[in-house]
This record gives sequence, C-alpha cells and structure tokens, in this order.
Amino acid sequence: MDGLDHLCNTVIDLWHRAAAGSNDHKNSLWQFAPPPDDLIRQTVLRHPAAAATHLAAWDYGLDPRTATLHHAIIAALDLVQWQFAYREDELDEGFFDHYGFFELIGPTGHFTSKQLNAYIGYWGPELFYPAHYHEAEELYFVISGEATFTADGRPPVRLGPTQQTYHASWQPHAMTTGSSPILTLILWRGSGLDGAPILCP
Ligand code: ZN
Repeated sequence: MDGLDHLCNTVIDLWHRAAAGSNDHKNSLWQFAPPPDDLIRQTVLRHPAAAATHLAAWDYGLDPRTATLHHAIIAALDLVQWQFAYREDELDEGFFDHYGFFELIGPTGHFTSKQLNAYIGYWGPELFYPAHYHEAEELYFVISGEATFTADGRPPVRLGPTQQTYHASWQPHAMTTGSSPILTLILWRGSGLDGAPILCP
C-alpha cells in the first residue's frame, strides 16, 4: 500500500463519517453519491505542479475534522498526476503557479470507477477562478482553507472546512480565494464523467 492507496482509503473513510455526522442530509457527501465500490487502481504517471510545493508546506490552520485527509494528500504528492484543465493563455499569468488538481477517481484517474469521479483541487490565496461549466453534476467539499463560491442563480457563499456546495449540470460557477488557500474534494456524478470544464465565454 502506497500513499495513493492510503489517500483513497482516507477519502472513503471521510465519506462514511460525513454521512454519519451530517446534520443536513441534503448536504452530505453520501446524499450526492454513495462511496464507489468498484475502484480499480491503474497506473497513471506522476506529473508535477508548482502549486504542490505550496500545498506541501501548508500545515497551519487545519480543521481537526479534515486534518487527516489534508495530511494524506500531502503524503501522496510525489505520486500524483497534476492536471490543469485549461490552456495557459485562458487564465491570468501566475494562475498556474498556484492552482492544480488531480483525478483521484475517474476514467483517467489513479483509481477507475464507473460510478463517479473524485478530484482533489488546490487554489492559492488571492486567486479568481473564473466562471466555467461542465456537463457532470458537481459537489465541492472544502477540506482546508476557505473561498467564496458563486453560481448562476444564487447568492455567493463563503465556505470553510466540511462545508459543501452543489453545481447542476452546465450551471456556470466561479470561485475566489482571499488571504487563505483552499483545498477541496470535488465529486462529479451523472453524464459527462469523461468531459472537462469549459470557461464561460
Ligand atoms: Zn465545476
């Protein structure tokens, strides 16, 4: 068992505890989707990201409910395949030094599943992630830090550890960080699991 196995187990464990401890069942990870039971490890080459250096040094202000997952992510950083989803000319200069995600579970992820995708995403402080959309329905779960999430048709909401927000299929959404970075677990379900986010025109 290596760091990725441990990370995957830690995510699934948190998934079970989130269901057991949630006061708002509409908001629980489990309500969005039960944890996948068809995971298969596949070989995915590691790919570095500048943001990983910042994330590896993030050991302050952690929430006790999610610190285990936070540390499991850092312990796996040398094994993960960071992705960026966008071309460098699509976003502000410097964005890619402070942003990255990896597909823990999904068609091209470290573990495959036919049931859902799960990503770990990191954004540094003072970043604006402009409006984008995708076919798959999405749940953001904040592991550490905080950010303001906006989505078409509803007021902005500032979310911190264990808080969650849902995006419907093709619903445009954006995110802004302040003085803190943010580390998130992002779940996709439904159609479009092999799709990618697209910036709104
Ligand atoms: Zn999204």
